[in-house]
Amino acid sequence: MNEPVTPLDPLTPLEDVRERIAQAARIAQREPSAIELIAISKTHAAEAIRPLIAEGQRVFGENRVQEAQEKWPALREETPGIVLHLVGQLQSNKAEDAVALFDCIHSLDRPSLVTALGKAMAKLGRKVPCFVQVNIGAEDQKGGCPIAEVPALVASARAAGIPVIGLMCVPPAEIEPAPFFALLAKIAAENGLEELSMGMSGDFETAILLGATQVRVGSALFGARAPNAG
Ligand SMILES: *Cc1c(COP(=O)(O)O)cnc(C)c1O
Repeated sequence: MNEPVTPLDPLTPLEDVRERIAQAARIAQREPSAIELIAISKTHAAEAIRPLIAEGQRVFGENRVQEAQEKWPALREETPGIVLHLVGQLQSNKAEDAVALFDCIHSLDRPSLVTALGKAMAKLGRKVPCFVQVNIGAEDQKGGCPIAEVPALVASARAAGIPVIGLMCVPPAEIEPAPFFALLAKIAAENGLEELSMGMSGDFETAILLGATQVRVGSALFGARAPNAG
C-alpha cells in the first residue's frame, strides 16, 4: 500500500506574491531584496490587514489621507515598525496631515504641492521621502506631472528641502504597460533618480524586469476591492 501523499499547504497570497517577486528578480539578475513590496490596503479594514502583519509584512500603502488616519494609528500601536506609504493623489490642504502620518509619499506631481509639502516638512521638522508621480501616458484626467516638466519639478522640490528619491507611475489601463515602465526608468536615469515605484497586481513582474524598486500590490494580496472603492 502506498502512503497517502500529504498535500503541501497552499501558499498564502503574501507568500505567493513574494515568490513571484523573487522569481522576476532572478530573471532580471537582481537581488530580490532590492525590490520592496508595498501592500496596498486601501478600502480594507484592520481585520483584513492584521493577518498580513502577522505574516511579517510591515510596509503598507494607502491612497486617502483620512482613511489612513482612521486605520493606522491603532495598528501601529499594536505592532512597531510599520512603514506607511501614500500612493494616492494629495490635496495641498492635506499636506501637513500627510507629512505627519506617512513615511513616504508617491504622489508629488505639481508645483503647488511642492510648496505645501515643503512648508509642512519645515513646520513639522520631518523630512518625508517623496516620489515624483509622472503622467507617463499623457492622459488628460490622470494625476502626475507631464514628462516635460519632471526636471523642473524635481529641482524645485529639492530647493524646497523635499527629499526626492525617485519616480512613480500608473500606466494607462488596458494597454501593455512595459513601454511605459521602460520610459519611466529612462526619465529617472536622465534625472539621476534611483528609485522606481511601478507595478501593481496585474503587472509587477513586468515592472521588476524593467527596474522597479517598489511594487504597489493590492488585490493580489487582499482580494478584489468593492467596485468604485478606489
Ligand atoms: C490601488 C492602487 C494600487 C494597487 O492596485 P492593485 O491592482 O489592487 O494591486 C497601486 N498603486 C496605486 C496608486 C493604487 O491606487
